[in-house]
Amino acid sequence: MDCLFCAIIKGDIPSTKVYEDEYAYAFRDINPAAPTHVLVVPKTHIASIDAVSEENADTVAHVLAAIPKIAAAEGLVNGYRVVSNVGEDGCQSVKHLHFHILGGTKLSEKMA
Ligand code: AMP
Repeated sequence: MDCLFCAIIKGDIPSTKVYEDEYAYAFRDINPAAPTHVLVVPKTHIASIDAVSEENADTVAHVLAAIPKIAAAEGLVNGYRVVSNVGEDGCQSVKHLHFHILGGTKLSEKMA
């Protein structure tokens, strides 16, 4: 399967890794939308939140559990935002589930 984030996880495409464990991989977004912009992804291919099921919910829970650890390591003591775009209307450009961690400044109140 031709998936950009699978290639990044495998190390075939370089990334700036900030965290890795058995289930999750996190790296800096190449086009940051905030002073801190990290992408957290499952190591196994899940297309989006729309593909989350009973079968992969444990993996997704492990990925979510990595987020506060990454936020703490990034010094986001004042809070942050977690975003996951889904599908066409959600403007998801990479079809591998990812959570954007955005922070390092006071973010816009506007959500969409
Ligand atoms: P989304 O639009 O929600 O699917 O988010 C995809 C994100 O991946 C965007 O914020 C891109 O800037 C980011 N991105 C695309 N290619 C790379 C890459 N090679 N390394 C790091 N981030 C990337």
